[in-house]
Amino acid sequence: MIRELHSGKYLVEVEASSGIPLIGCIAYGLIDRGTNVIQIRPTSLCPLSCIFCSTDAGPKSRRRLSEYIVELDYMVEVFKKLVKYKGARDIEAHIDTVGDPLTYPRLVDLVQELSSIKGVEVVSLQTHGALLNEKILDDLDEAGLSRINLSIDSLDPDKAKLLAGTKEYDVEKVKEMAEYIARSCKMDLLIAPVWVPGINDDDIPKLIEFALKIGAGKRWPPLGIQKYVPHRHGRKPKGVRSMSWREFYSRLRALERKYSVKLVLRPEDFGIKPMRRLPIPFKVGEKVRVKIVAPGWLKGEMLGVARGLAVTLVDARGLSIGSWVKARVIRTKDNILVARPMI
Ligand code: SF4
Repeated sequence: MIRELHSGKYLVEVEASSGIPLIGCIAYGLIDRGTNVIQIRPTSLCPLSCIFCSTDAGPKSRRRLSEYIVELDYMVEVFKKLVKYKGARDIEAHIDTVGDPLTYPRLVDLVQELSSIKGVEVVSLQTHGALLNEKILDDLDEAGLSRINLSIDSLDPDKAKLLAGTKEYDVEKVKEMAEYIARSCKMDLLIAPVWVPGINDDDIPKLIEFALKIGAGKRWPPLGIQKYVPHRHGRKPKGVRSMSWREFYSRLRALERKYSVKLVLRPEDFGIKPMRRLPIPFKVGEKVRVKIVAPGWLKGEMLGVARGLAVTLVDARGLSIGSWVKARVIRTKDNILVARPMI
């Protein structure tokens, strides 16, 4: 079902009956990048508007045309098939999204379902934590969540609001939730700040001290510091120059020495390994016939279906839902499919 919101955007409810595939689009559904980690994107919504957001999420988004919510049973059914295809062993179900997974109304049920599937060893979740409370944490813990990657970008309340792009963001509450996870939950906690040079440089050491003090990282590393990377469709804070990877790793190594904690992380630290990947039934440059089924994620885009997969059509203004269009494929990596109409 496609609803028009008063913001002028659309909310697309992706149900099994909608005919919208769960593989192919970056904004919702499932992503297989050829490892034992399957990314699960049940919602694209977010309550924050972080000034560095790589996906331009939240109420202040200027590029988005649609948000998506996936029906729980549909997601679980397709996920199960993918797990089986990959050999039903050592799978990490990683709920990451282009928004915040806590906006998914059936998140606890989703975690419960995922954690009970044969072959799923780890269920993890990436959030900025604005919607966390003790009850949700208890429920997620009980449902079998293995780890929360919690992004806290500054411990200073004013700077945290600035970074989150909203005065509503209360870092004191998020800190309390972090402490609660470390103290009272079975699940593990990884503190995952985004390092935005020139804005939160002084906060990074304080965040390391905080993570170590509260006892994050029982089974996995306690910190996963992320480098701010400007993205074409993301928000770019004024005056911020991104660090080179070389500078980023050298600064992390200096902090590793100072705090005796692992900060330069490798896939092996999370048990990530190559695993059979879904075939990609398209080639870049190929012409395909695409049926348009919904408005696209970003302005100017439409969502289509070809060969059983979702395809994002760019430069698709004026095309209507239900019509067919010939398009040239311009991206196929990891089965995230993008094509441009040939009109
Ligand atoms: S960085 Fe995450 S929490 Fe912040 S606006 Fe983007 S999706 Fe939302």
